[in-house]
Amino acid sequence: MQYYQPLLLTPGPTPVPDSIMSAIQLPMVGHRSKDFEDIADEAFKGLKPIFGTKNEVLILTSSGTSVLEASMLNIANPEDHIVIIVSGAFGNRFKQIAESYFKNVHIYEVTWGEAVKVDEFINYLKELDVKVSAVFTQFCETSTGVLHPVHNLGHALKKYDDSLYFVVDGVSCIGAVEVDLTKDKIDVLVSGSQKAIMLPPGLAFVAYSDRAKERFAEVTTPRFYLDLNKYLNSQEQNSTPFTPNVALFRGVNAYVELVKHEGFNHVIQRHYTIRDALRTALTSLELELLVKDDSYASPTVTSFVPNNKEELSYIKDQLKSRFNITIAGGQGHLKGHILRIGHMGKVSPFDILSVVSALEILLTDFRKENYIGKGIAQFMEVIKHAS
Ligand SMILES: *Cc1c(COP(=O)(O)O)cnc(C)c1O
Repeated sequence: MQYYQPLLLTPGPTPVPDSIMSAIQLPMVGHRSKDFEDIADEAFKGLKPIFGTKNEVLILTSSGTSVLEASMLNIANPEDHIVIIVSGAFGNRFKQIAESYFKNVHIYEVTWGEAVKVDEFINYLKELDVKVSAVFTQFCETSTGVLHPVHNLGHALKKYDDSLYFVVDGVSCIGAVEVDLTKDKIDVLVSGSQKAIMLPPGLAFVAYSDRAKERFAEVTTPRFYLDLNKYLNSQEQNSTPFTPNVALFRGVNAYVELVKHEGFNHVIQRHYTIRDALRTALTSLELELLVKDDSYASPTVTSFVPNNKEELSYIKDQLKSRFNITIAGGQGHLKGHILRIGHMGKVSPFDILSVVSALEILLTDFRKENYIGKGIAQFMEVIKHAS
């Protein structure tokens, strides 16, 4: 038995870089102090380029789901008609939140593993024949590994009806993709700390357009902890309405430093290169990709379909027990059907090379066929061209 370094390749939580861990472990400061105000000011501003916004990013102490919920409660009035694009387990979460609070919820189903087809979606809206006030979608649907064409969708939506609010769940891709609220015509973009932003779990983020900010103040849907107006008011004083996770705010600032050091464009490029290399390698290992269309494959998570349930369990269990590598299974009806490799945040091409080489050994054992070298050679060709 060899020793293998633990490798966490789930689509959240993701490995946390040392400099972020060190920042998190600094001595505590009072959250109503000048010390904290300085930390918070830096964090609110530092996240702006990551979220592609000119407004300071709101930070809540809660998990990602809280800002999915906040985005609805602060954008939609109780009687409003809202539309949710459901293309996987996180679309379903938006649906469940919506149905907990609102009566007029319309669900647009997309086959899991596929991206929303913008023209078809606009036709659906036309046929709905009600005044829709907001549309909600994932950016990356983490349960399948699809990256939706948010830019095209934003433009098509605003062309169809420019009074619509466009709300995007970017929990599993912000920090690894290019986004611009103005250019992409997004009103609210939410994310969480434990995915591509490579912090521990515990913070949630909200970026918003100017018209979304005005809307937050008008909406009458009841909410308390998730009332974004409270966060906006506190933000003007470089503060938060409730006790924040002070340590993670420092982590945000360490994260922003890391991104500045590498260059945000490089960070994005690195994720896309890893995606391309991994997809090529999995195909070479005769593992079927769930997302067929390369152009809609997420740069942060890749799903593949083993030949059968036995092979799936073998891969997942042996990766962990023999190689110390953790990957994720499927969710919803894809549970027991797919495996997912997260590759976001603190991840290098060589980290993913490890999982490809481990897969070669496991498939060679399981299928009684020689796979050694078949995936890694293809993987390295892609990396070579990109470096
Ligand atoms: C992880 C995730 C969430 C939820 O995050 P929690 O932090 O578990 O509440 C929401 N949406 C997407 C797309 C995610 O990947």
